[in-house]
Amino acid sequence: MINVTKSYLPPLSEYVSYLEGIWERGWLTNNGPLVQELEAKLSDELDGAQVQFTSNGTIALQIAIKALGLTGEIITTPFSYVATTTAILWENCEPVFVDIENRTFCIDADKIEAAITPRTSAILATHVYGYPCDVHKIEQIAQRHSLKVIYDGAHAFGVNYHGKPLLTYGDISTCSFHATKLFHTSEGGAIIVRDKELADKIWLYKSFGHRGDEYFTLGVNGKNSEFHAAMGLCNLPRVASFIAARRELAKLYMQELADMPLQYPTMPEGLEYNYAYFPIVLPSEEVMHRVKDALVSNDINTRRYFYPSLNKLPYHSGAICPVSEDIASRVLSLPFYQDIDRLDVKYICEIIKNVVV
Ligand SMILES: *Cc1c(COP(=O)(O)O)cnc(C)c1O
Repeated sequence: MINVTKSYLPPLSEYVSYLEGIWERGWLTNNGPLVQELEAKLSDELDGAQVQFTSNGTIALQIAIKALGLTGEIITTPFSYVATTTAILWENCEPVFVDIENRTFCIDADKIEAAITPRTSAILATHVYGYPCDVHKIEQIAQRHSLKVIYDGAHAFGVNYHGKPLLTYGDISTCSFHATKLFHTSEGGAIIVRDKELADKIWLYKSFGHRGDEYFTLGVNGKNSEFHAAMGLCNLPRVASFIAARRELAKLYMQELADMPLQYPTMPEGLEYNYAYFPIVLPSEEVMHRVKDALVSNDINTRRYFYPSLNKLPYHSGAICPVSEDIASRVLSLPFYQDIDRLDVKYICEIIKNVVV
């Protein structure tokens, strides 16, 4: 069985050595030394930004929305994982979908202004597959209309854009360190901000709103544990090698699938990509299903990342987004992880070629 991804597991002895420290200290959670060490290292990776380790990437989005005091409408992308939209709805805001552009599959910045109303409070966009939104244009729009900007950077760890970590753009960026992500802590996420005051507010929000016996605000439990931090500390030094290996595998896929009628997201100038996913867009939904079925019958799992287009969710209806709906209906994420066998990649491509002639 070949899965769409395989979570990296560090040598067990390495993880155990962190566990020994946890056993000695008896300190399991609540801002323990491993959480602090991981946050400091992540901050180093992210140009000194304030990084808070959270229990997952979804609560990170919810806390970000809360911390910026967002109300009313939030302009967002229909082409993302469902958590981007549900975080908005869960915080009692209204997602307003703006269609994506055809190159990066990220929100089309040129269509944002037409969707702004007096009730718009923010833009929440996803750097989908780790490809960057048009951060510069979005920043200008936000300034012009006094909007906040949150980036769902769940796929963006390890990406640099115009010489800066992609996760340092926007008022707040969030990340997910879920087991399926490029860098993972089994479950986990992060909130990344530059503003110290905002960082303090976020810290309170993720810690029940109190410090010791002093109670300041309503809060929630968004903390993460020493066990998860330990997994992160094991995996973090390996991220660069994961990216290097994935770059070679992406090259192999592209080579094997060359001359096929497939579409891929394209890299804009100034991008140092992290190769988080390997999505292909098939010529039609019907061909996509045939490819998916042919792979499944060979014990190879793919995922429809990202389907459905989020404006089509059954519990919320949004404006029509033709580009997103079209891409979502035809896209398939192929098996992609650093130690996938090169022969398996070739085999997968053979199966695809036999279906898409
Ligand atoms: C994975 C993911 C999330 C959610 O992260 P969790 O850590 O699983 O809660 C949010 N947004 C996007 C785009 C994701 O891919």
